[in-house]
Amino acid sequence: KSTPNVQPAIGPKSVAAFERACSLMPGGVNSPARAFGAVGGSPLFIERAAGPHLFDLDGRRYLDYIGSWGPMILGHAHPEVVEAIVAATRRGTSYGAPTEAESGLAEQIIEAVPSIERVRLVNSGTEATMSAIRVARGVTGREKIIKFAGNYHGHVDSLLVAAGSSAATLGVPDSPGVTDGATRDTILLSYNDVQGLTETFQQHGQNIAALILEPVVGNMGCVIPTQDFLAAARSLTETAGTVLIFDEVMTGFRVAYGGAQQRFGITPDMTTLGKIVGGGMPLGAYGGRASIMDQVLPAGKIFQAGTLSGNPVAVAAGSTTLRLLKQNPPYEQLERLGNRLAEGLGKAASDAGIEHQVQQVGSMMTLFFNKHPINNWDDADRSDRAKFAQYFWGMIERGIYMPCSQFEALFFSQTHTEAMIDQTIIAASEVLAAIE
Ligand code: PLP
Repeated sequence: KSTPNVQPAIGPKSVAAFERACSLMPGGVNSPARAFGAVGGSPLFIERAAGPHLFDLDGRRYLDYIGSWGPMILGHAHPEVVEAIVAATRRGTSYGAPTEAESGLAEQIIEAVPSIERVRLVNSGTEATMSAIRVARGVTGREKIIKFAGNYHGHVDSLLVAAGSSAATLGVPDSPGVTDGATRDTILLSYNDVQGLTETFQQHGQNIAALILEPVVGNMGCVIPTQDFLAAARSLTETAGTVLIFDEVMTGFRVAYGGAQQRFGITPDMTTLGKIVGGGMPLGAYGGRASIMDQVLPAGKIFQAGTLSGNPVAVAAGSTTLRLLKQNPPYEQLERLGNRLAEGLGKAASDAGIEHQVQQVGSMMTLFFNKHPINNWDDADRSDRAKFAQYFWGMIERGIYMPCSQFEALFFSQTHTEAMIDQTIIAASEVLAAIE
């Protein structure tokens, strides 16, 4: 792994906090992407956040382009979301019994997402994809599933094969502890490869329970599906009786209110959600056609449960977030600012003579240090990680917090202004011009 050629710009309190954390938690973190492993150095420790900004232990302010890896589309600590959380907390933090608020959030999700007629709330994106795969296998009575290299669906054993995101970054596409048995029925294909997909369905179609994909990939950096690819995934699964699952944990309520399926006009059989749907609290969801979802216990026989599922505090945060997104949709503004940032970063890289690609859908994007367009994991893997690390640290020095891996998409929020986008482009111009 290449190491950056710049001095890490992390304050002394963050460095000390990381040292302490490393003696207490594996690698000092509770999720690997946070450790800055891909860019070398010690991570910022965050004290608080407001709107588009993060504040670290050393009192430094950063313009945040991670947004908690996706959820914070309204900006941090949105007053109405905070108020809803506080009010819910006062009424008790968990009952283990049904509430009307859960039906409220379910209604919002069903109304927003074209493929969802019935939904089940869970606690994370991982739980959503794990459960959706089980349901697809349960309803079809089949065992095989298809996933794409560089797509990440959480740390589900059967899906931890050539997963993107931190698995890609850390070079552990197959984790120790995941047995051959768990992945034996997972067929791995290349994203955007219509021919490979078609041939696989010709050979194995009748045995494939589910095809799961990120309908815009965030987890190998931002990679955009071709319309042909999504259309082929839809028609091949329909013919074969395979359940098509869109993993919209990242894209749901992000690339459009109704997710990528609304944006691209392709409706899957099932959808998984996380991140924005929980408004920054631990909440995920999976749903789909009623005929599929009604086979989940206790309506049907497929087991899936959770002590904290539908937790009232998380539901309050998610429900308030969706209400605000619907009342005052930020999507046109995010699109406009996204285009402005993509153009600005592209121009800055061109002016610096750096081979690059900017790939963007609305408010998610990646600046790839790569000569060729990125359509799949093999393309992404050829990006220049050492240049990315220099870029990352240069931006940190200028108070801009970008995702700490070439293989992550950046996200921004409705609280990011045009002036902040322009400030980001100016910083990137300086940083890129200095890259060796
Ligand atoms: N699916 C996608 C597309 C994701 O991006 C992620 C997380 O980044 C997950 C699933 C897993 O979600 P969680 O981290 O909430 O378990």
